[in-house]
Amino acid sequence: MYAPHVRRHALALLDSGISQTDVSRQTGINRTTLREWSQDRSLADKYLGTDLCPRCEPVPRPPTPAHAYSYLLGLYLGDGCLSPAGDPRKKIWRLRIACDDKWPGLQRECADAIAAVRPDHKVGRVQAVGCTMICGQWKHWPCVFPQHGPGKKHERLIALEPWQQVIVEEHSERFVRGLMHSDGSRVLNRIPKKDGRGFHAYPRYLFANTSRDIVGLFTDALDRLGIPWKAHVKRQPSVLSQRAISISRKDAVARMDTFVGPKY
Ligand SMILES: [Zn+2]
Repeated sequence: MYAPHVRRHALALLDSGISQTDVSRQTGINRTTLREWSQDRSLADKYLGTDLCPRCEPVPRPPTPAHAYSYLLGLYLGDGCLSPAGDPRKKIWRLRIACDDKWPGLQRECADAIAAVRPDHKVGRVQAVGCTMICGQWKHWPCVFPQHGPGKKHERLIALEPWQQVIVEEHSERFVRGLMHSDGSRVLNRIPKKDGRGFHAYPRYLFANTSRDIVGLFTDALDRLGIPWKAHVKRQPSVLSQRAISISRKDAVARMDTFVGPKY
């Protein structure tokens, strides 16, 4: 059994026109195997794909597709966690994203993002109280979500790796959408009319998280997109105080509506 990067390297050599004999000599892979790989790419690709981790290759790559990853990173930072799955000797991790049962569309979008980043693998659903855990199993989730660590996210430093920073800068809208879908909402704000008869209602976006770092990542993305925001500190019934961000200006709400919109 060969590591994925060995196979890819051998196929790249063959594709560049080097003979099977020479590739075999260079790589130590026998010619029958090389012939099989070059004749049936689907087989090779399928085999390659079973445990392919872009971060574990000799030259690490960012996960793809970047737009799906950027969205999934937002969901993960908001409502996701990694935990060991099954037999600990197998070192398989389960990614779980909690999705409220009120929003079946969001559950589908979350499942699609997991399937895009980790293709050809089953996305599971586990019913919990009021929400569904959308799950995917992979040895390499901690490689693509290096923010994983012991303890709660708000009790430790959450900083993006440089390659993640590149992705969220290129796909800021997708990142904001993921964060909003996990810890945000689009609500109607009601202001009493001056004459006391009824209310003015206007939409605004709210985002709240107990991690100062995650809120910082959210506002950095808004700044890149040129969307004005305001910070509030929201006292929770529990001891935690959440940092809340509101986006209320009419033009800013209209801009957010183009790539976030109401939950569905
Ligand atoms: Zn890996």
